[in-house]
Amino acid sequence: MNLRDYLTSSEWNRIKDFSEDKETPFLVVDLKKVKKNYIEMKNNFETADLYYAVKASPSVEVLKVLIDQGSCFDIASIYELDRLLSLGVEPDRISYGNTIKKVKDLKYAYEKGIRLFVTDSELDLLNILEHAPGSRIFIRLLVEGSNSADWPLARKFGCSLEEVRRLITIAKDYGVDIYGISFHVGSQQRNILVWEYALLKVKEIFEWAKEYEDVELEMINMGGGFPSNYYYPAEDLEVYSENIKRFLEQFFEDKMPRIILEPGRSLAGNTGVLVSEIVLISQKNQFENFRWIYQDAGKFNGLIETLDESIKYPVYTEKKGEKGEVVLAGPTCDSMDIMYEDFKYELPMNLEIGDRLYWLSTGAYTSSYCAVEFNGFPPMKTYFIEDSSK
Ligand SMILES: *Cc1c(COP(=O)(O)O)cnc(C)c1O
Repeated sequence: MNLRDYLTSSEWNRIKDFSEDKETPFLVVDLKKVKKNYIEMKNNFETADLYYAVKASPSVEVLKVLIDQGSCFDIASIYELDRLLSLGVEPDRISYGNTIKKVKDLKYAYEKGIRLFVTDSELDLLNILEHAPGSRIFIRLLVEGSNSADWPLARKFGCSLEEVRRLITIAKDYGVDIYGISFHVGSQQRNILVWEYALLKVKEIFEWAKEYEDVELEMINMGGGFPSNYYYPAEDLEVYSENIKRFLEQFFEDKMPRIILEPGRSLAGNTGVLVSEIVLISQKNQFENFRWIYQDAGKFNGLIETLDESIKYPVYTEKKGEKGEVVLAGPTCDSMDIMYEDFKYELPMNLEIGDRLYWLSTGAYTSSYCAVEFNGFPPMKTYFIEDSSK
């Protein structure tokens, strides 16, 4: 891997200098890049409203940058809601994007002023109709894009086209017009055509709703799925935006609905570098031609998205020289704490115990996923590098 594909030399130098005297493992988040990513997303989807998916990187520091930029927010729980409210975010900039919610939490969010809710089931819809009157409700359509997404979100969320229709009818019978349709094509979605397929279905639903229920759907929430920069590069964001805007114009040329996006990974992913230290190197069998490298970051402290080797982070070391295949594993006494075994990374043969590894593009879905004290290890620390240009 080439470091320059991920960080400029000044970005790298800042992170390296900052990291030097800190005890591993830890994550360094460059707040300047959060702002840059937001602006890039906004420039690519000029007319869309961006609701940052807070779960991707929920720290106050990251949220503050996005609040200053005028972002809206998509929350998964009332705890994320409380954090945003405590930072002064107005409730009309927040959408409750979890289809799974307790009535108690729904009522709480409603009391706090939230009026935009997702649903994908009859019972949750009835709860919203009853306990959150006057809210805008959107229904999540199940979209199959798991083959081409690094981190699929299918199966658990969304419902079939027929079920979406049924929910629209249920709401109508209750006297409420559904506000819009959402979908999520799967996180780090590499096949842009999945959006085309999803939007085609959404168009069908729009037409059906108008014709059969006299419901004028007004909004499409296209979720996340936009790329970050991992071991295997994805298309540039411009390619995503050009194509997705083309699909939208093709299907909705007469009347463009309001478009909402909920980027998480694409705003936070490339902002972080996780720094770990090699604890042990071994070769289990003289006839195996790969080494095991155990280091102090693993599945339970930051690298959970390596489950099934789904997300392949670029791993950088300052050691140069001839490379050999390795299995990369974490520090705990749990045998699932192996990041990459089937897919063999190649790292320099001269790596030694105590050397540092830099896991690039680890700004999203890492620190917030840490176990509290599995094996006694504390959760990984996160440091923030301020935007010095401010
Ligand atoms: C997690 C999530 C997102 C963010 O997805 P990314 O692929 O990280 O951009 C957006 N919307 C919803 C509803 C989510 O659950």
